[in-house]
Amino acid sequence: MKSPFLFKSKQTLVKLAATAACITGLFTSTSVFATTPPAQLKTQVPGYFRMPLGDFEITALYDGYIKLDHNQLLKNVTAPNLKKLLGKMFISNPDVQTSISAYLINTGTNLILVDAGTSKCFGPTAGTLLESLKASGYEPSQIDTIYITHLHGDHICGATSTEGKINFPNAILRMSQAEADFWLSSKNSDAAPEEFKKYFKMAQDSVKPYQAADKLKPFAVAETLSPGLKAIPTPGHTPGHTSYQFSSKGETILILGDVIHSYATQFPDPKIGVQFDADSKKAIAMRASLFSNAAKNKIWLAGEHLPFPGIGHIRLEGKGYVWVPVEYAPYGTQTTK
Ligand SMILES: [Zn+2]
Repeated sequence: MKSPFLFKSKQTLVKLAATAACITGLFTSTSVFATTPPAQLKTQVPGYFRMPLGDFEITALYDGYIKLDHNQLLKNVTAPNLKKLLGKMFISNPDVQTSISAYLINTGTNLILVDAGTSKCFGPTAGTLLESLKASGYEPSQIDTIYITHLHGDHICGATSTEGKINFPNAILRMSQAEADFWLSSKNSDAAPEEFKKYFKMAQDSVKPYQAADKLKPFAVAETLSPGLKAIPTPGHTPGHTSYQFSSKGETILILGDVIHSYATQFPDPKIGVQFDADSKKAIAMRASLFSNAAKNKIWLAGEHLPFPGIGHIRLEGKGYVWVPVEYAPYGTQTTK
């Protein structure tokens, strides 16, 4: 009869010996149990993400988040469909955490900031843009141009401190002429319904110090902004809403602004609108056409309210789109196509 302790090979013997050594170690090495348990740090990593785009360098900057109740926010969606779409993204509460980002583009010649975050306009869960910028290795004084997609407070308030001082001392502040005309008009703010007046005030207060220093420079729609940068008029959410397209060495990224707020619902169904679009029909048509183009041409998209860093691609699936977020990877190794 064979002994149960006979082993088939030398390797098996070696493995078993190693296992036995580990087990013995567990019982003899009391130091593992005697040390103080490690304190949990409970902090997040700094709020920036970086990737190249041809010769350009793109840095996504995290400003924080606000919660948007999707039952209040959205239109053109039934309650059961909303529940289904949110459920598919593992979101059980319709009060959805919504990221706020800005994008920094170093073209090699210019250091450009697209949108400026919230400062303190939207409460304590947002307003960390300057911390994220510094953590990313840049100083506010290095930025020479700020392009604003639209003059809602979550995109413009961060340009100016709560004391009313310019946050970016060497930057000019730019947005489309149509956007400036609408929000900076005292006639429009006086005529606005009471509940909207505060949004005019946010825009006007944030822009004021730049205006006073002669650093407010709205642009006409057809103007070429700088090499590799195109303003794409995307009115609908606001009258002069503008997306910014950066291209270098055959690579393109389109910074959308508020063409999309709800990644869970508006990618699968771009016809779902948001209540605070100034012209809902136009905003929906704009989103449909931009998404179709982006999917066809496989360009990068960046969205200020997409989950941070809010950069990725979309692909057509059925009648809607699937969001494919960029991968965290060493600088320059992200898959592009
Ligand atoms: Zn926004």
